[in-house]
Amino acid sequence: MNIYNLTRDEMEEYFVKLGSKKFHADQLFSWLYEKRISSISEITNIKKELLNQVSSDYSFSKLNLVQVERDVDVCKYLFELSDGEHIEAVLMMHDYGNSVCISSQVGCNMGCRFCESGRRKKVRNLETWEMVTQLLMIEEDLGMRVSHVVVMGIGEPFDNYDNLLKFFLIINHPKGLAIGARHITVSTCGIVPKILEFSNFPLQINLAISLHAPNDELRNQIMPINKVYPLKELIHALEIYLEKTNRRITFEYILLSGVNDTDSCALELARLVGHLNCYINLIPYNETNNLEFRRSNTVQIMKFYDILKKNRLNVTIRREFGSKISAACGQLRSKKEEL
Ligand code: SAH
Repeated sequence: MNIYNLTRDEMEEYFVKLGSKKFHADQLFSWLYEKRISSISEITNIKKELLNQVSSDYSFSKLNLVQVERDVDVCKYLFELSDGEHIEAVLMMHDYGNSVCISSQVGCNMGCRFCESGRRKKVRNLETWEMVTQLLMIEEDLGMRVSHVVVMGIGEPFDNYDNLLKFFLIINHPKGLAIGARHITVSTCGIVPKILEFSNFPLQINLAISLHAPNDELRNQIMPINKVYPLKELIHALEIYLEKTNRRITFEYILLSGVNDTDSCALELARLVGHLNCYINLIPYNETNNLEFRRSNTVQIMKFYDILKKNRLNVTIRREFGSKISAACGQLRSKKEEL
């Protein structure tokens, strides 16, 4: 077990189980997340015998950072995991702060046709510590705090649900990384039962849905998950989510030339989500080696945008980061692993 897997509550339980005091959890959390120790030997205010016990129960290791590619306002980090697998995370520098896009799995099983990251099948879920230490190591590299986190890198986060929730609890905790829940976003391709479960999660994390098509026929073609959870079920789950949480959701919609970017698709999309409290984030497609899909031209992107606006939807067009260093949405797939 790795120490960065533990939420504050789990750490308290651990110390109590040892017959020790709860407050050691506060102390240890502060060494890990405020003082950022690199080894347990740096801890000075916990008794030797107790520390020996902790270090025989838990590893304090982090990921192995093997490569950083830097551009003006974006960096891509390549990490090696202890089993030799690789994952990537991307840092984006905005005027409002530093935002990090992290990975949640090695590979992905969702099989979205347009997505480069998903060309490698899922090998395994990331453990909580492997998500937490992506952030710790990026902050260390930057010498600065990360203010925003999006779980939109490699993997389907709701297919790694339990580890994901622990990750949120740790990075949100005031004595952990203290990143505000409203500054954290998780994106899913639409795993309906998990969306329903997530509506009961106490933290106000933002939810984004990768929609990408306004009807089942089209969505079935580009996102296989739609055959399991078709739009009617997805929208119904989101209605329940919105009613329970009183929040707003974001729909991500990649514009693929001639596939889902027509005027009639825009109208259909407006009809599909117009009754929901939502934003629509239009994403210019990042073309990959996969030549099947093309980016919509700017005129069509603006037309699509205007139609949604006219139908009184909240629409934005996603600012693009990192296309030069293959760090853009859907492109995270380590060169080491290219097939
Ligand atoms: N599995 C999750 C999170 C990872 S994908 C999900 O599906 O939401 C993050 C976002 O990038 C998704 O909206 C995905 O559809 C989008 N994406 C994938 N490939 C892309 C590409 N080539 N260009 C632009 N966006 C892409």
